Amino acid sequence: MSGQSEEGCSVCDERELVANMRQVADVTKRCAIFLDLQATLGGPGLGDVREFGFYPFAFEAVRLINVSGLLAIVVTNQRRSRRGMFSCEEYEACMSEIEGQLRRRGAYFDAFYCRPHEDADGCDWKKPRPSLIERAAREFNIDVQRSYVVGDMGSADMVLTAAVGAKRSWC
Ligand SMILES: [Mg+2]
Repeated sequence: MSGQSEEGCSVCDERELVANMRQVADVTKRCAIFLDLQATLGGPGLGDVREFGFYPFAFEAVRLINVSGLLAIVVTNQRRSRRGMFSCEEYEACMSEIEGQLRRRGAYFDAFYCRPHEDADGCDWKKPRPSLIERAAREFNIDVQRSYVVGDMGSADMVLTAAVGAKRSWC
């Protein structure tokens, strides 16, 4: 009798267990703030990253994201790198300097996703295509629909936000 009961319940329990696991998986997914770089966290405008300087408010803004438990993830296009205006080594040095400035002010980026391509390159990863955020979502187990894209008024970030189904906030 107990065997029949256990056999009968094991199927139900298994289904229930799978459903519970899915719920737990959803709960354990993290939320992120996907940050544009130029004209959002710093200037000048859309100029090349070697000229980048943080806006005064940006350090505290990123620090607040850090302490909130959300992920601070930069998603940026850097076309001038593709145009040969600066090398990968220069780009890496710029990024290290930018992250160093942030850390000295008590904040940090959890990740930095960049594509150097022009529109004409047809790169599937370049904003506003969703590939960079989709990759970040896989790597960090992010619930994109509960996450935000923070950008300036450039159309790329608006299109990107719609493409991934995230929430949005514009500077
Ligand atoms: Mg921008």
